[in-house]
Amino acid sequence: MQKSFDTNQKKLYIVSTPIGNLSDMTYRAVDVLNMVDVILAEDTRNSGVLLKHYHIETSMLSYHEFNKNEKENMILSMLHEGKNIALISDAGTPGISDPGYEIIKSAIDNGFDVIPIPGASAILAALVSSGLIIQPFTFIGFLPRKSSEAKSLLSTYTNRKETLVIYESPLRIDKTNRMLHEILGNRNVSYARELTKKFETIYRLNLEQAIHQTFDQRGEYVIVIEGNFQEEHFEISIFDHVKQYIDMGYDEKDAMKQVAKDRKITKSEVYKVFKIEH
Ligand code: SAM
Repeated sequence: MQKSFDTNQKKLYIVSTPIGNLSDMTYRAVDVLNMVDVILAEDTRNSGVLLKHYHIETSMLSYHEFNKNEKENMILSMLHEGKNIALISDAGTPGISDPGYEIIKSAIDNGFDVIPIPGASAILAALVSSGLIIQPFTFIGFLPRKSSEAKSLLSTYTNRKETLVIYESPLRIDKTNRMLHEILGNRNVSYARELTKKFETIYRLNLEQAIHQTFDQRGEYVIVIEGNFQEEHFEISIFDHVKQYIDMGYDEKDAMKQVAKDRKITKSEVYKVFKIEH
């Protein structure tokens, strides 16, 4: 088979692996994991199952949240020696709510090539199956453990229009739902559970319903939340709104155009009100 990578040395490959279903592995990912000199794995026992399934015999080194800093120099030395290295995580794409960022940044800063080998990630699978607006979206990842910190983070998104994506453990799902409802109000939401696995379930409901729903405490969840589409309430009159832009340096025509855009009304509506009060 023709290899889809070149064999120049000194590369760090960021290789996506399945998020449950072992068949979600790309041909290229298998090629790269076979070709590299060493695989950095978050949990070597867990990744051992994947490597065995694909008859990959490359040796693994552990690289996880708690040893990532002490391993950095050793990994950079291996790249300096001309070794090819692949980074994988327990599931999905490394660096996405998984270790990876630090070594990726450090490899780039030291002049090494960092090559992504795309594949599974729970974010996109959950987002595209949610039925909610796909873009723009913001990936929040895991919320902070402390409620006060989680609430304060969520409140920065209250007025944002984009779809939000959150990773959550099933043990915290009920508490998180109450918090989402309290901070964001009622919105459409989708819960993608156990994607690509036997008990894959996608619940599409709203947060009002979600706080009364019993969610299975087993499996993994991605929560996708609709953006804020409430009509914006303007405290100032149309006349003062136009004046505000004029004071900022807009000419009258552009100021009216901008106000129409902000308030999602036609330019002639703005013109009528502005000229009457002028
Ligand atoms: N790196 C992974 C990725 O690219 O999606 C994410 C790793 S993060 C430690 C694990 C979280 O991802 C889970 O708590 C869950 O929110 C989400 N997740 C991973 N696999 C999933 C799956 N099969 N179904 C639903 N959510 C999943």
